[in-house]
Order: sequence, then C-alpha cells, then structure tokens
Amino acid sequence: MEDILKALSTLKIDKDTLEIAEDILNMADELCKKDIEPYAREWNEEGVHIKDGKVIYPKKLLDAVKKMADNGLLGLGIPEEYGGAGLPTAVVHAFHERVSRADASISLIPLLQATVSEYIMKFGSDMLKEKYLPELAEGKVFSGLLYTEPTSGSDLGSLKSRAEEEGDSFLISGTKIFITNAGLATLYSLLASTDPSKGSRGLTAFILDTRASDTGFEILRVEEKLGLHASGTGQIFMDKFPVPKENMLGQQNKGFSVILHGLAASRIGIGAQAVGIADAAYRRAATYVAERKQFGRRILDFQVTQFKLADMATKISTARQMYLYASQLKDLGKQFREEASMAKLYASEMGQQVCYEALQLLGGYGYVTDYDVERYYRDIRITSIYEGTSEVQRIVISRDEMAKIEKFNQ
Ligand SMILES: Cc1cc2nc3c(=O)[nH]c(=O)nc-3n(C[C@H](O)[C@H](O)[C@H](O)COP(=O)(O)OP(=O)(O)OC[C@H]3O[C@@H](n4cnc5c(N)ncnc54)[C@H](O)[C@@H]3O)c2cc1C
Repeated sequence: MEDILKALSTLKIDKDTLEIAEDILNMADELCKKDIEPYAREWNEEGVHIKDGKVIYPKKLLDAVKKMADNGLLGLGIPEEYGGAGLPTAVVHAFHERVSRADASISLIPLLQATVSEYIMKFGSDMLKEKYLPELAEGKVFSGLLYTEPTSGSDLGSLKSRAEEEGDSFLISGTKIFITNAGLATLYSLLASTDPSKGSRGLTAFILDTRASDTGFEILRVEEKLGLHASGTGQIFMDKFPVPKENMLGQQNKGFSVILHGLAASRIGIGAQAVGIADAAYRRAATYVAERKQFGRRILDFQVTQFKLADMATKISTARQMYLYASQLKDLGKQFREEASMAKLYASEMGQQVCYEALQLLGGYGYVTDYDVERYYRDIRITSIYEGTSEVQRIVISRDEMAKIEKFNQ
C-alpha cells in the first residue's frame, strides 16, 4: 500500500481527498487480506459454470463482492449526490490495482462497475444517472460490456447486432461473445447498429437492463479459458430485447465515439489491473527467494537475483505512474486517449515479463499451483488482449504520434 499511496501523493489531489483516499485504500487492503487472498486459489479452482442457463459463481467470491459493496467500494468514482464517494480516477484505479493484486478475477467486478458508471456519468441523461448510479454505487446491480461479436473484435465498427426502433424502444438482436460478468451483470453498456447502411457511423450506444424483459436475453455458454477462472466469460444471444429510447448513451448513430471514449477510460483500469497482478507475482517471488537456499546461500543473495528484482520493481513503478498520469489527465479534462493506451500497452506487456521472471525465480515451485505464481502468469496474459489488444493500442498511439510528427516536420 505504501507504494501506491506514495505515488498518489505526487498527484494534483487536495489534502482532504488524499486522507479519504488513504482510509479507503486501507479498508480495501484489509478486505483483500481477510476476504480475498485466503480464498483466491480455491475459487479459481472452483471456477464459473453454467447450469440450465444459470451462471454459477463461487460463493466466497460473491461474499467478498458483497463486502466491497457494503463498504461503498463499488462507487468510489460516482459523485456523492448519486451515492458514491466522488473520488478522483487515480484513487479509483489505485483501488483496482490493490484488488487485482489479491485476485485478478474478482477485480473485474469493480473495474466494470467503474466503466459502466463512467458511461452513464459522461453520456447518460439526468434520468439515467438518477435511475442507475445509486444502484451501481450500492452494488445492487453489477455491470458489463456488450461489444465483441463472433466476427467483430478489434474491428468493432463492423459489428452486426441490430437495434430496431419500435415505439418508445429499440429492440436488440444479435450475438455477443466473451462477455465478462455474464450471469452476474444486470446492466450493460451495449453497442449495436441502428443503421447498417452507415457502418461504424450507424452505431448507437445504450444501457441495456436485463430486468426489462424475461425473454430475449440468453446466456448460451460460459468459456473455459487459460486464466481468470473465477470470472465468468459468456456468450449472449439477444432476440428483440427491449431497450427504452431514454437508455441511449449520447446521440443516435454516434455510438462509436461514445465507446471510444469509454474504452480509453477503461484501458487505464486494465493498466492498473496489470500492475496489481505483476506486483502480486513480484512479492511472491521476493518472499520465496529470501527463504530458499541453494549452493549454501539464499537465492536472494545472488546479485543476479537482486538485479532481476530491481528490474521488476522499476517496471511496476513505471507502469503505475503511467496509469496514474492518464487518470490525472482525464480528471483535469485534458486529452488522455494516447496516454491511456500507452499505460495499458506498457503495463500489460511489462506484466507478462514480470510474471515470467517471478515464475523463473521460483523454479519448479513456480510451475505448480501451491505458490499462485502460475495463476498470475496465466491471468496476466489477457491484459494485453481485452479492451483492445496491444496491436490496437499501438494503432491508437501511432495515430496520435503521426499527427505530432507531421506537425513538427512542417
Ligand atoms: C477473458 C475475456 C474477457 C473479455 N471481456 C469482454 C467483455 O466483457 N465485453 C466485450 O465486448 N468483449 C470482451 N472480450 C473480448 C476482447 O475485447 C476481444 O477478444 C479483443 O478485443 C480482441 O478481439 P478478437 O478476440 O476478436 O481478436 P481479433 O480482433 O480477431 O484479433 C486477432 C489478432 O489480430 C490482431 N489484429 C487485428 N486487427 C489488427 C490490425 N488492424 N493491425 C494489426 N493487428 C491486428 C489483434 O491484435 C490480435 O492479435 C473479452 C475477451 C476475453 C478473452
């Protein structure tokens, strides 16, 4: 915690807010130590399953999420007038970093809560804010993102799900894949086509509330995957599912730019998640090498080990500063898209390197499940894929860089 608090104290955050942030992060730390870390291995082994169309999450994980909700930790960035804590983005993501250090799977619940809240805060009407933000802050509902489709991943603009106008609603039909929190989430940010003839210029963003109808929203399957075993990843089929017109985010046919803003914001959170996972691996390796002896010495006493740890700590600290910097830019109302992509790209790729080195430092014990490093090694892999792959981040960064290069070459 000291490292996170030290980094936060360098930002443009007033003293009172910093004190509140410290209390909240200490509370989160306690919750992680008591309710997440002791059970994370067990609930990742248990996994998420689907039975008769119902998705079953590990009970202890849900208990820990309830404690987060009861302690107000799911609405840290939501304004106080809507029941949240109204804290800066940097503090919200510092919390996500800490939870990700305890377990990456569970961290996706507060991360997506923050993401969908952000969409509503930035693009929702007053009605949407009043209706949904208090529920999100209290953890009465959980949330997710309905973007990816079987034939549209990185190229989201080509998606095929339809939103057809009927009276005061749009009826949504289509298939979405790889949906995190499937079966747990009730509120989703959705991207669908309102005018297929216009391609990405005919997409509209909505808040889809699964409570609006008992039919037309079905979870077909839950994926088996490399990591994040305690996070549900579902395939969802929608057939004329009603979404009231008032649930539109931004304007009709302007959904692509809504989602681009949202993705930039949530990429900062994935940067924080990667830092948390890398920090967990670093700590586990550092503890191990301080105990393990070979050739009559602690492995920590070999200088090559100390240098490895120095490199790992430097990378973690750099990535942390990058996601905090992007958070600060966002809160200052400055352009933050490129910095968010840089933070996500760097943190997710450094996370792979740090988890690799951590596993190596544990030797054979790193490869077996007892020390959790193999879990971190599997969990970190997704951070360079979801919310835009590393290649997509490089596309975003190089576009902004190209504009700068053209300018300074003039
Ligand atoms: C565990 C998990 C959870 C997820 N959660 C969600 C969720 O909650 N909601 C949601 O909507 N989606 C979710 N996703 C989907 C995720 O965002 C996509 O998998 C990701 O955006 C990549 O899309 P794709 O898998 O279709 O890969 P593709 O887009 O098919 O890409 C395949 C490869 O080609 C590369 N590539 C593609 N285009 C280019 C290009 N122009 N230049 C260079 N390289 C390129 C990619 O970088 C990648 O390496 C999740 C995925 C997983 C695995």
